[in-house]
Amino acid sequence: MPLPSEASTAFLPYGRQMIDEDDIAAVVGALRSDWLTTGPKVGEFEAAVCAFTGAQYAVAVSSGTAALHAAMNAIGIGPGDEVIVPAMTFAATANCVVYQGGTPVFADVNPDTLLIEPLAVARKITNRTRAVIAVDYAGQPCDYDSLRAITDRHNLFLVADACHSIGGSYKESKVGTLADLTVFSFHPVKHITTGEGGMVVADDQELAERMRRFRNHGIATDHRQREQQGTWYYEMTELGYNYRISDLQSAMGVSQLRKLPGFLARRRAIARQYDQAFADSVAIRPLTTLTEVEHAYHLYVVSLPDAATRATVFQKLRDRGIGVNVHYLPVHLHSFYRDRFGYGPKLCPVAEGAYERIISLPIWPGMDKVQVERVIRELQEWR
Ligand SMILES: *Cc1c(COP(=O)(O)O)cnc(C)c1O
Repeated sequence: MPLPSEASTAFLPYGRQMIDEDDIAAVVGALRSDWLTTGPKVGEFEAAVCAFTGAQYAVAVSSGTAALHAAMNAIGIGPGDEVIVPAMTFAATANCVVYQGGTPVFADVNPDTLLIEPLAVARKITNRTRAVIAVDYAGQPCDYDSLRAITDRHNLFLVADACHSIGGSYKESKVGTLADLTVFSFHPVKHITTGEGGMVVADDQELAERMRRFRNHGIATDHRQREQQGTWYYEMTELGYNYRISDLQSAMGVSQLRKLPGFLARRRAIARQYDQAFADSVAIRPLTTLTEVEHAYHLYVVSLPDAATRATVFQKLRDRGIGVNVHYLPVHLHSFYRDRFGYGPKLCPVAEGAYERIISLPIWPGMDKVQVERVIRELQEWR
């Protein structure tokens, strides 16, 4: 146990994993089993995520990015196809379109929530548009009714990048049931972790089977299935990758998932503590949470008055051992996207303006009340 003086100055990252003895025991159990990579734990983890989300099918892969790539492949994105994505997200949301040879088209976000704006999506639709990827930014589910109305009208796939929002819900429907395909990440800063890992859930069996092949070189059977069937024969029917997740990681995922309700409760309690502290502040403005959602709080983001204040606050908090961060530089402003697609400033002015002023405060289930108070105090006294 750290001494109180150490605890009050210890570095607080913006997010971090919580690993208990039961997670360690689960991984050790897998190490002692016959299966290190694809074995019984992968299916167990997939079934557990189906049970948690209410989705019918799940395909576990090696990262959230691999999951996004598998989703784009499953819906047949290829050269000439456009996929609409929000400007305010992690680069992987757009990169997965580029992996398939498609073009990501950036839509602006709502200034209060930083969620993709359905009206902006509608304006970006062309006869090449094939899909929309909605990102539940910070853990708040998007306006799925409006998005679904648009994608239905134009016969597009709706994909949810729910890397921030496992355990969230929209109008009583759980994240995992709100889009055609829903993508999760199990990176250590996310709600539950497998070290690296990801998953796609779906209600369409054919899409799920395509993703299962895609994660295993485009081969229909895996090593274990062939062993059980007593055959050596396999056929590669399409080009795939090695995006498999291991049994070690899946054992950890099953163990972590059991604790997800507790992790969510703790994240929500921390968010309430921040909300109350900033309720009357003019300078520190949290993002708006809509009444029809249950927020999963991967991030707790506040907006400051201007870019100069954000720079000062960022430096001051970092100097004081508080690991604030900025999520995200709008994707179309990355030099890769400027060079490859000719995107640049003014394409999505709301996201660009917000980016100058936002800051993400530490939020993870292992943070205690006193640590949250420390962040609040340091932020309120930034001058
Ligand atoms: C974390 C994240 C990803 C990528 O997940 P990895 O597991 O790190 O590959 C994709 N999209 C968003 C919005 C994320 O936050």
